[in-house]
Amino acid sequence: MKLATFKGGVHPPERKELTKDSPIQRAPIPEKVVVFMQQHAGAPAKPIVEAGQKVKTGQIIGEPGGFISAYVHSPVTGTVVEIKKLSNIIFGRAVDAVVIQREGEDDWELLPHGDFEKFSKDELLENIKKAGIVGLGGAMFPTHVKLNPPQDKKIDTLIINGAECEPYLTIDHRMMLEKNEEILVGIKIVKKILGVQNVYIGIEENKKDAIEFLKEKWKGQVIVVPLKTKYPQGAEKQLIYAVTQRKVPQGGLPMDVGVVVQNVSTMYAIKEAIIDGKPLIERGLTITGEAINKPGNWWVRIGTPISWIIENLGQGFKNGIENVKILMGGPMMGIPINNIDTPIVKGNNGITTLIPEELRGTFCIRCSYCVYVCPMGLQPYLLDLLGKKKRYDEAAQIGLLDCIECGSCTYICPAKVEHVKTIKLAKKVYRALRGGEK
Ligand code: SF4
Ligand code: SF4
Repeated sequence: MKLATFKGGVHPPERKELTKDSPIQRAPIPEKVVVFMQQHAGAPAKPIVEAGQKVKTGQIIGEPGGFISAYVHSPVTGTVVEIKKLSNIIFGRAVDAVVIQREGEDDWELLPHGDFEKFSKDELLENIKKAGIVGLGGAMFPTHVKLNPPQDKKIDTLIINGAECEPYLTIDHRMMLEKNEEILVGIKIVKKILGVQNVYIGIEENKKDAIEFLKEKWKGQVIVVPLKTKYPQGAEKQLIYAVTQRKVPQGGLPMDVGVVVQNVSTMYAIKEAIIDGKPLIERGLTITGEAINKPGNWWVRIGTPISWIIENLGQGFKNGIENVKILMGGPMMGIPINNIDTPIVKGNNGITTLIPEELRGTFCIRCSYCVYVCPMGLQPYLLDLLGKKKRYDEAAQIGLLDCIECGSCTYICPAKVEHVKTIKLAKKVYRALRGGEK
């Protein structure tokens, strides 16, 4: 099998065997959910409900706070208990969260829905917006914005991201095997919106069953591109290069080379919204890692606390393990949580539980490994150094803002330098000081 790929990258232990054969099961609905008003890139949503108010499953509880923002819906039928500011670990600040007590089974509030052919492009985009759909691969960029590029950006190619290069996670793999018909409907809807004919799906070759299965199922409709198993193969720019050999310019976006990339789970969410009228109130995720009793793949309501998921779905931590490290996401790009009651958000593709590793953070020995693996062609050791010295302008000149935070440098570093931590902070400070300029 000829495999497409990119320059750089690393190959960490995959550990997908823990869950790759676990079919996605539907989790029970928790008694209480905590729904953040920011679960998307851009401005937080504004809550439009108040304490004591009854809400239905799928009812809008938060309205977009800006052009780049998203609607937020109630994941359960029940009563709003309170609205409070809570620390949102993903966005690094406190944001409004709506706490809802469930009462009984789902009483749905659905969006306009039906055969997608009856909707115009603008109606489809509006319904995707109203459904609160964001990129479910982790980036959480509002999908209606991504599917509506400026007129001067001619899009000719849609790439579906089935790479799932993060170690441990297998939810996209299971989605491709179990939900291929629904995903294909989502792809047809997006094809209509973008007016494109070329559609590819990139899948790492460690998912051979999905490659063979979709080649057969989607014959003549979507070109399946087997990818080398290498991290970060699923990062947008690396995926685009592997599939089309087009290079997104420094500081540019996929639309600059005529491409839109969408994750497989996002395609499923689009089908659910347009055909069935269901806004984004649940998603599939992998619960995995060395520290948990029962790894698996589950459909879980947004707003479910991680503590509830670990106890009820993962059957708790293994005996005798202390100081478990819990990540929202996989081990490479996942965000470590400091509060186990943190609720899951739309972009949460997994919960990974790890046994504490040895201490990180010693000194660079100039081995250049990080430079060799960086898929963006950066000098991570230097970005780390300049970041630590607060020389942000110099860091920006050598590509600080081009870092995709993939973590390959930190993974490969023999001195265990934590570049990504420093780079993330440096980007944040630089943007604050310079107002987001490139
Ligand atoms: S991999 Fe680590 S030790 Fe080697 S140059 Fe990069 S930061 Fe320094
Ligand atoms: S510098 Fe950024 S893009 Fe390069 S390997 Fe490190 S995290 Fe990835």
